[in-house]
Amino acid sequence: MTASSPPTSPSGTVLHGVPVVAGVAHGPVIRPGRLPALDEIDAAPEIDEEDRAAEASRFIAAANAVASRLRARAAHATGAAAEVLAATATLAQDRAWLGTAEKLVNAGAPAPRAVVAAVDQFVDMFTQMGGLMAERVTDLRDIRDRVIAELAGLPEPGVPLPAVPSVLLADDLAPADTAGLDPSLVVALATSLGGPTSHTAIIARQLGLPCVVAVEGLDEVEAGTTVLVDGTRGTVTVSPDPAVAAEQVATAKREAELAARWTGPGATADAHAVAIMANVQDGAGARSARQTPAEGVGLFRTELCFLNRDTEPGVDEQARIYAEVLEAFAGQKVVVRTLDAGSDKPLKFVGHHEEANPALGVRGIRIAAGNPGLLERQLDAIAAAGERTGNQPWVMAPMIATVGEAKAFAAQVRSRGLTPGVMIEVPAAALLADRILEHVDFLSIGTNDLSQYTMAADRMSADLAMLTDPWQPAVLALVATAARAGAAVDKPVGVCGEAAADPLLACVLTGLGVTSLSAAAAAVNGVGAKLSQVTLRQCREAADVVLSQPSAVDARAAALAILG
Ligand code: PEP
Ligand code: MG
Repeated sequence: MTASSPPTSPSGTVLHGVPVVAGVAHGPVIRPGRLPALDEIDAAPEIDEEDRAAEASRFIAAANAVASRLRARAAHATGAAAEVLAATATLAQDRAWLGTAEKLVNAGAPAPRAVVAAVDQFVDMFTQMGGLMAERVTDLRDIRDRVIAELAGLPEPGVPLPAVPSVLLADDLAPADTAGLDPSLVVALATSLGGPTSHTAIIARQLGLPCVVAVEGLDEVEAGTTVLVDGTRGTVTVSPDPAVAAEQVATAKREAELAARWTGPGATADAHAVAIMANVQDGAGARSARQTPAEGVGLFRTELCFLNRDTEPGVDEQARIYAEVLEAFAGQKVVVRTLDAGSDKPLKFVGHHEEANPALGVRGIRIAAGNPGLLERQLDAIAAAGERTGNQPWVMAPMIATVGEAKAFAAQVRSRGLTPGVMIEVPAAALLADRILEHVDFLSIGTNDLSQYTMAADRMSADLAMLTDPWQPAVLALVATAARAGAAVDKPVGVCGEAAADPLLACVLTGLGVTSLSAAAAAVNGVGAKLSQVTLRQCREAADVVLSQPSAVDARAAALAILG
């Protein structure tokens, strides 16, 4: 595949996927380089004795080529990026690992296998040394991949550095692919896999890049082809008409400028208030969210603080961590969620059992049945953090399915002088929201899991992303049920799933009666600005219309026609 290859999809073809970050951008396609699979490398035959010297020279030449390419890139970069690239170039020519690999080649190993083995050896050593050396492990693996690609005559792995602003297309993106992604050079993302809560979606949201996932037919679009990504409609247009593309990008730019100028607080054009808050996972995230007009934290995912912990953090340590978030939003509302461990977020110290269907298993509040002390200690820590900071948090439980669970949780929270609520993520809880509200002071709808459980479709499955779309009318009908229950007793009902990050859907949720929206910090301005441009009447009209649509795609189109 070369930059000049002709596109295989005809001009103007519109591919459809799931929109995850609003905005429009266009540019030539770049794709991450692919590596030969490790089993192919392992299966390569030994090198004959008389060819080993040549194989060793081939290896050294490849390592030198990688180092000089990195150095050339360092010369064109500035600041921290230049330093990182120069340091990586130096490591590529480090005598220690080069010598180890060369020895293996001289003993008969093909160069790619020798590179893998030598780097593995140094990765182990660096990891054991810990500290700064351990931090070089990623660089060493990066060099390994670059040298292997060079030996195989393949383009550089990872995201290539484009010469002009480009659109990154991929199957899916790993964190390593996107580390240091420069939003001025990569202007949009689209993937053939991934769902609205996939890693790609999270990165795109953080960087504010228009993004569409689960795009059918994306594999056919070759590097170099111009595409237009519309992260609002969920489309990728192949070789678009240049004038139409320019017009769409200009409109999106105007919207982005409006978003950047939005300073809050959240309200419709006719002054119907809807608090717009941020989802955070630690103190650092909260401090950066504080730089946006977010009016508080609508979801603090506490389990994400402890993903790499083997043992349960003590009450004091937990209190310190929670206090950081409460301090960052001093004087504003913070909703702390108790540990949502299990399923895709297992915590070692919870001691999860092997389960055939972990998403339907012991996760969230269900852990408390087998380990009540864990929840008690966490609530003690949350109360202590509230006392220490003078910012008394609201506290909610994840994965509530019954009225009884909500009642028991509320009693535990109230006994510590805190305000109890529950997440609505299970259809059973949405259906009985009115009875749950007899016990708790607020609800927060987790549309990610509510979509998964309503549609019986794994939120991690790329094949089912069209089903786990929060625009599904069935999901929105459950949101309406919960919001109505809240309105009847004048208690707040927020949304804290990814649905709240979609400006158009945020307006529909407002029309359904939701009283607050909490999303990734990067989405706050876009959501606030969009809401400020529409009236409550328009939101309600859109809400009515979406509920009667036959599909998520129709629901989105119908809302767009009303809300613009
Ligand atoms: C949700 O399910 O919508 C939610 C906010 O919780 P999480 O994404 O952490 O499961
Ligand atoms: Mg959830």
